[in-house]
Amino acid sequence: MRAALLYGPQDLRVETVPDPEGGAEIVVRVDAATTCGTDAKMWRHGHRVLGPYPCAFGHETAGTRTDTSQRVLVSDSVACGACPPCRSGRAQICRDPDWVLGGFAEYIAAPEAALHPIPDEIPAPAAAMAEPLAAAVHAVDRGSDASEVGVVGGGPMGLMLAALLIAQGRSVTVADPHPERQAQAAELGARPATRLDSHGLVFEAVGRPTAWRDAAEAASPGGVVVLVGGCPTGSEVSFDPGPLHYEELELRGAFHHDRSDVDRALAALASGAVPWRTLLGPTISLTELQAALASPTSGRAAKWVVDPAR
Ligand SMILES: [Zn+2]
Ligand SMILES: [Zn+2]
Repeated sequence: MRAALLYGPQDLRVETVPDPEGGAEIVVRVDAATTCGTDAKMWRHGHRVLGPYPCAFGHETAGTRTDTSQRVLVSDSVACGACPPCRSGRAQICRDPDWVLGGFAEYIAAPEAALHPIPDEIPAPAAAMAEPLAAAVHAVDRGSDASEVGVVGGGPMGLMLAALLIAQGRSVTVADPHPERQAQAAELGARPATRLDSHGLVFEAVGRPTAWRDAAEAASPGGVVVLVGGCPTGSEVSFDPGPLHYEELELRGAFHHDRSDVDRALAALASGAVPWRTLLGPTISLTELQAALASPTSGRAAKWVVDPAR
């Protein structure tokens, strides 16, 4: 089969490799694999969850089981079930997950526990988006029940958060400097803004120290800030700590998702609660992937769709 393999930072090669053998795992033919900011980071700098080079990657993967022909989303990880977070019902922060990477290939082998049936209504590129959407579902759970919500960042994650919150009947403002992303937020029914004013619940969906600061500063007294975008370990984030004490602000991290979040994300896509079409970028082949990951992410928020059969 053909697979895109990372040989090192910014060195992606499409090669012919042996087809995966199932053994204890299920072989899935990849129908669509979407890209995200994490893929761009993995391509640019490497990542702690990647195996030794050369390694397969791609973690938003929808395909068809070769044994039963059932369409499935291949989740990017399986929690261990035994560590303290898993035992306390927080599998999303499992200390020893089995990562399932390799969606940028014609086939992927995955443990059955990573597979989720795709509802008939959802085409493969939208189903692949259930992986990041599941993280948004979990992040919303980490918030409060405030009716007025601010989101810092109008990229795919910010827009997914906005769509889920709007579907819950909340009023949402999305702050992003790009006019194209503001227009996408408005299409979803959110209020677009360049900067966020004061809100009781704020989601940060950028993953930069300045965005963490903007989110903390936008929280009103007693407010909750949910940090969804990851800043690299060692990043320096600075904001006025006074309000944490005098205004009882709460900063909460939100990371990843568990199995039920993935099924809820698939259900949200099937119900139309998340208008995924606005996030669909061009469909590309494996050989076009490297140029896509290298391209700047300004402008409209969209995910490339890799079709390995191209
Ligand atoms: Zn992703
Ligand atoms: Zn665990």
